[in-house]
Amino acid sequence: MAVTQEMICITCPMGCRLKTTQEGSVLLNVDGHGCKRGPRFAKEELTDPRRMVATTVRVRGSVHPLAPVYTAKPFPKPRIFDLLREVRGLEIEAPVVMNQVVLENALGEGINLIASRDMPRVNECDNFTGELSPSERYFQPIRDRSETNPPPHTASHLPLPASRTWRRGASDQ
Ligand code: SF4
Repeated sequence: MAVTQEMICITCPMGCRLKTTQEGSVLLNVDGHGCKRGPRFAKEELTDPRRMVATTVRVRGSVHPLAPVYTAKPFPKPRIFDLLREVRGLEIEAPVVMNQVVLENALGEGINLIASRDMPRVNECDNFTGELSPSERYFQPIRDRSETNPPPHTASHLPLPASRTWRRGASDQ
């Protein structure tokens, strides 16, 4: 018996609303697509749905406690939570360089997990050149406005000096 269902194509920002008709595993018809990538997306979504996964991994001895990582290719959707569970148990050692393979052949799917930025060792901050990533540049004015925020080259997870520790004062009562 033919089954009809709706889905949104996520291949591009148009987000076309597709109406598919299938019988068993055979896709009979696709309507509502704005281009030929729509039927291809519908077929993949019905037979082998995949998504890119971006998350973070704990990193030891670096300027930040977490390193951003992503899958090199779209990962099978039904196994994404298994992948995230696996990644949660990971801890890598600094320094990390951008595009470094953090986890090879994740869950045996033949897809690597890749670091998306450099993460220098905490003692390498002495040689910090002042070069900021685009996201750090974006937040820089906010940091400048607050004396309690550490400068960008300081490990944000390290305790602040006692003089800079927040205390509950009369104005906070
Ligand atoms: S069908 Fe084509 S135009 Fe529509 S969302 Fe998919 S890729 Fe974009």
